[in-house]
Amino acid sequence: MQEMISLEEAQEVVLSKVHQLPAEKADLLDAWQRVLAEDVCSKVNLPPFNRSPLDGYALRAADTQNATQSTPAELIVTEEVPAGYVAMGELISGTAVKIMTGAPIPRGADAVIRFEDTKEEMFKVKIFNPLKSGDNISRAGEDVTKGELILTRGEVLTPAAIGMLAAIGQGQVQVVRRPRVAILSTGDELVDIGEPLPEGKIRNSNLYLIAAAVKAAGGEPVLLGIVPDRLAETSVKFHEALAAADLVISTGGVSVGDYDMVHDALKQVGAKILFWKVAVKPGTPVVAAESKGKLIFGLSGNPAGASIIFEVLVKPVIRKLVGERRVLPGKALAHLDDEFSKRSGMRRLLRGRVYRQGEVLRVTLTGKQNPGVLKSLLNCNALIDVPAGSDALGPGKQVAVLLMD
Ligand code: AMP
Ligand code: MG
Repeated sequence: MQEMISLEEAQEVVLSKVHQLPAEKADLLDAWQRVLAEDVCSKVNLPPFNRSPLDGYALRAADTQNATQSTPAELIVTEEVPAGYVAMGELISGTAVKIMTGAPIPRGADAVIRFEDTKEEMFKVKIFNPLKSGDNISRAGEDVTKGELILTRGEVLTPAAIGMLAAIGQGQVQVVRRPRVAILSTGDELVDIGEPLPEGKIRNSNLYLIAAAVKAAGGEPVLLGIVPDRLAETSVKFHEALAAADLVISTGGVSVGDYDMVHDALKQVGAKILFWKVAVKPGTPVVAAESKGKLIFGLSGNPAGASIIFEVLVKPVIRKLVGERRVLPGKALAHLDDEFSKRSGMRRLLRGRVYRQGEVLRVTLTGKQNPGVLKSLLNCNALIDVPAGSDALGPGKQVAVLLMD
């Protein structure tokens, strides 16, 4: 075990420890945005019957053969079929049925004419141009044919996919199970929302920040609240977390002064430490450990450190567990808008916002880059990847960015 490793090594270590979770049945709305764990073939035709795609008249095309503006075909209107109903009789030559969008084509009819192209008179309709058999008929199965493969294992279910499943009458589908991710915050200074805030204390924002990020990554957060900076309580919480979840995230208590506490707590629950520092700023102190096949991440308490390391190290793990194909952040090159005057001894991930300007990608810093600063995370959609040993960066400089999608 190495003390400090590169981000890429750290990603490799943790990703090698996890696999896609098993499948489970989910109701449609709960399946949205999840990874499909089965191929889905349609058992039905869509549409299920020949239907009218517009409001008009169903008729026999042959009856309109000789229709012209001056000598229109005149058909007797025998009935009206709204959507959801079926014509009572078979349509015979010389007649027409008034039909609404979505209604089934009456037996005997082979074409539909738009309402706007006809003239209606007492029980009759006039048609001024000839129709061909099949005009304006949506055929059964023209959208989806019975037996057709419509969704494949491994794809992420979009709203359209959910709509398709509903259309074929399937109310449940096999998807990859979501990991339960236990989240706990260490720190004597922390107070939950809604509690009085004595002097010297701060809100436990990390719990909510990380929980929302877990949700966005496809996990199911299990909130375990605040743990004081004491070994015994921390060990008990880690124990509880491991029992309750597939993955555990804690924040705080890993910086130099506090490190031994989280370290010892992890030892007490029998976890094996994988590494305890990653060579990036912010968020350098980050413990990764493993216990009975479950990963534990001890992130820095600094909101930016916690959030950024979550993005580049923990989110990929969650994405792998839920069966996503691409797990690591996308990479791009962009032109920097601003100046960043600090030299970077260690590799830095700066909070920025990428945007397109014509053909080029540009990136703006979103604000102060101190690890304790939360505001610059607000509009952040990319991390500017500044290599170790870089001098100050100036406007126009081409930089590598990690995209946060
Ligand atoms: P630590 O990593 O415990 O040394 O904490 C580093 C900084 O992050 C300190 O300023 C803490 O007060 C702050 N911090 C720790 N935990 C949280 C939290 N859950 N929410 C917001 N800030 C926190
Ligand atoms: Mg602390």
